[in-house]
Amino acid sequence: MALLSILEYPDPRLRLLAQPVEAFDVSLWRLVDDLCETLGVSKGIGLAAPQTGDRRQVLVIDLSGGEAEPEVYINPEILASTLPCLVEESCLSVPGVVGNVVRSSQVRVRAYSREGKAFERDLEGMPAVCLQHEMDHLVGKLFVDRLSLMRRLQFRFGASARARAKAA
Ligand code: ZN
Repeated sequence: MALLSILEYPDPRLRLLAQPVEAFDVSLWRLVDDLCETLGVSKGIGLAAPQTGDRRQVLVIDLSGGEAEPEVYINPEILASTLPCLVEESCLSVPGVVGNVVRSSQVRVRAYSREGKAFERDLEGMPAVCLQHEMDHLVGKLFVDRLSLMRRLQFRFGASARARAKAA
């Protein structure tokens, strides 16, 4: 296993579309292991392959604080979603920013396991929200894109001020 480095906003690779996994082989298993290890070390609750520069539709979620094996979702697809709610989110790729976004509080998802077995699962609350956040990464979307206009302006202003500070 190896630790992967996590791309940070505004890295353009975070905006690329991920591709469906076709080969459930050793290269995929290595990616899944590396994502799980990187998630554990970074103390996040979810990590998607594109955040590490890999363009496969793979994400891992761990809401147990490292107590259980992370859940693995490959080629995930939302089959149904209900009950929009406002939740506070942050992201390993956008350090230091927290903001409220609208998500569904219940989703039904279909995905594949690392062995290539299809499964369906109903998620509610944080697991549902986390899955939607990570699935956004598979289509090049970041949670800051979903913030209110006012909050986005504050975020952009903060980001350019940070860039100027770095350049100085
Ligand atoms: Zn994220």
